[in-house]
Amino acid sequence: MGNVIIVGGGASGLMAAVFAARQLEKVTVLEHKDKIGKKILATGNGKCNYTNLDQGPKMYRGNDSSFAMKVLPLFHVNHTIDLFKELGIYPKEKNGYLYPNSEQASSVVEVLKLELNRLKVKICCEVDVEGIKKDKSGFLIITNKGEYTADTVILSAGGCASPNLGSDGSGYGLAEKLGHRIIKPLPALVQLKSDAKYFKTLAGVRTKVFIRLFIEDNFAAEEQGELLLAAYGVSGIPIMQLSSYATRALDQKKKVHLLIDFLPEVTKEELVEMLYKRVGRNPSVTAEEALIGLFNNKLAYVGLKQAGIDPLELCALVGKNKLYHLAEQFKEWKVVISGPGTFDQAQVTAGGVDTAEINDRTLESKLVKGLYFTGEIIDIDGTCGGYNLQWAWTTGAVAGMNCGIMK
Ligand SMILES: Cc1cc2nc3c(=O)[nH]c(=O)nc-3n(C[C@H](O)[C@H](O)[C@H](O)COP(=O)(O)OP(=O)(O)OC[C@H]3O[C@@H](n4cnc5c(N)ncnc54)[C@H](O)[C@@H]3O)c2cc1C
Repeated sequence: MGNVIIVGGGASGLMAAVFAARQLEKVTVLEHKDKIGKKILATGNGKCNYTNLDQGPKMYRGNDSSFAMKVLPLFHVNHTIDLFKELGIYPKEKNGYLYPNSEQASSVVEVLKLELNRLKVKICCEVDVEGIKKDKSGFLIITNKGEYTADTVILSAGGCASPNLGSDGSGYGLAEKLGHRIIKPLPALVQLKSDAKYFKTLAGVRTKVFIRLFIEDNFAAEEQGELLLAAYGVSGIPIMQLSSYATRALDQKKKVHLLIDFLPEVTKEELVEMLYKRVGRNPSVTAEEALIGLFNNKLAYVGLKQAGIDPLELCALVGKNKLYHLAEQFKEWKVVISGPGTFDQAQVTAGGVDTAEINDRTLESKLVKGLYFTGEIIDIDGTCGGYNLQWAWTTGAVAGMNCGIMK
């Protein structure tokens, strides 16, 4: 059990290496990029939102999301904070979201590297793992730079999201060849597209909203926060949070739409009243002018058109009926979703190695003794806010702690 190979030098693989090397002498990380930790550098807009104090079942998704709830307590948020403090990361908290006090994601990579050097972990970059075979004596790892042998393999190769940062989905093929079932990988934490032509006009608008997601006309989920409107459709944190429900449904050819409330703090009736006062106050101004200061100009223009009101129509001509439609337009703006963004744009992958085939106390494969899985390659994805990195740290630590234990 002495010789461990970790495939992938991302968040979960590096954490697995730390814990494996604290008990075993020979730990090697094989990474096909020229550097380890490339994706960590891109996290949290370069600041690395490495965990979140607010944890719960709603933050983790998968075919069997209860798997996450069984694994996370084994190395939870406080363990993560303590470990990173021990390595040098002093936490900075913003509404429960934790960042390194330096606000530099590079700090997280650097402290992990320093610890791996201290523990004498061998790091081999530009080594692409092409195949893994298991026989009675252990594992044979086939790479572009020759073959390696190991008693234990930790598969930490990530998913398919943002492949430019290293995780190109090749880990799924490696797991599949070892007999594992892969739940179809789909982009998650990603923007959503719409075919509505007016998005070209709305591109660049940012505004606080409340959004409800419907699948086959049934309510599925809701979120609030800042919405970003773009020529292709919608983005921003609330959309990212809703996206994993939407991408799964779209993949199953189900109809998906959003109802966006552009003025969540007032009721529809209050908005009708407000609009009524605005148009009544100066009947000689246009409908568009009457909305100045209430909504972004581009949004007001498109909203009027969608409600069947000519933006240049004089307020004197806009009747109460039309105002009711206008209020409805802004309070329940329907956006039919035509598709999700691509893996290139996604922050995370939903789907992956079926959790039914992984031991929830050790992360060892139930099918192949000595094989462990960590991070995004497993069929669990977190919502925005530090949850995906927490999943990476937890699974890395648990696999690293358990991989040297004789069973
Ligand atoms: C832009 C962006 C911002 C994000 N921000 C946050 C955030 O602020 N907070 C948060 O919690 N999460 C964030 N995430 C998600 C988070 O970064 C990932 O979920 C997490 O890094 C996954 O860790 P991992 O170890 O499973 O996989 P990865 O970090 O993807 O690491 C996998 C590693 O394996 C290597 N590899 C893959 N295949 C092979 C192979 N065949 N041979 C050798 N090496 C291989 C890859 O090059 C890579 O280095 C963000 C993601 C992106 C893309």
